Amino acid sequence: MIRLNNVTLTFPDGDSRVTAVDDVSLTARPGTVTGITGPSGSGKSSLLAVAATLIRPDAGEVIIDDVDVTRLDAGEAAELRRNSIGIVFQQSNLIPSLTAQEQLSVMNELGGSHRRRNRARAAERALELLDAVGLPDQRRKRPHQLSGGQRQRVNIARALMNDPSVLLVDEPTSALDQERGAGIIDLILQLTDRLDTSTLLVTHDRSHLPRMHGVVHLVDGRLQPVSDVA
Ligand code: ADP
Ligand code: MG
Repeated sequence: MIRLNNVTLTFPDGDSRVTAVDDVSLTARPGTVTGITGPSGSGKSSLLAVAATLIRPDAGEVIIDDVDVTRLDAGEAAELRRNSIGIVFQQSNLIPSLTAQEQLSVMNELGGSHRRRNRARAAERALELLDAVGLPDQRRKRPHQLSGGQRQRVNIARALMNDPSVLLVDEPTSALDQERGAGIIDLILQLTDRLDTSTLLVTHDRSHLPRMHGVVHLVDGRLQPVSDVA
């Protein structure tokens, strides 16, 4: 489970500061997707960065599996990201020279050696996940041989390689057409259910929202009352 309690984040802005996230509280339970919407600049990515332990908030708590991760030092936070958090950004950031299967397997080589699965097990897990994201026949393909939608599927599979309890996804459909975008959202809903992740999904496309377990709407960093969400 991930729970944000009264999170506020500001950035320096000339002589003053801009408030990117303003006193936001929300929860995602295992097996559920919470959608986060709002106009450009409303603080969606900032909120995910705080949830991902990539930025420490000015105030508030981020509770992941009963630990307030805002109190972790940099090393502990990195360890938590490796083991418990899957992150999918808008751009897939795949490594051009690696095949789809290698993009996933390489995750196993990061971090302390005691944490590594044996390579055969990692390769097997990579194949299972490529299958789960609908790419069983693409494992030897490199990024330039895959479509945008397929690259995003590899990106999602990679985020799941270390069996995270929390999955954070930022606008995964923004570079895709409507149909491929809908397929990616379907996939995230399915994988959340199957792998029991607590998922936060930022999207500006409102057509997908009815299928999520909860939706929050941000304006100027603040959560809007549910009745204001059309
Ligand atoms: P969204 O993802 O909803 O488009 P962001 O979280 O990217 O919104 O941005 C929220 C606000 O925080 C904006 O005003 C943006 O300019 C500001 N902001 C985001 N990241 C930074 C940063 N690294 N430094 C300064 N200001 C930032
Ligand atoms: Mg953003």
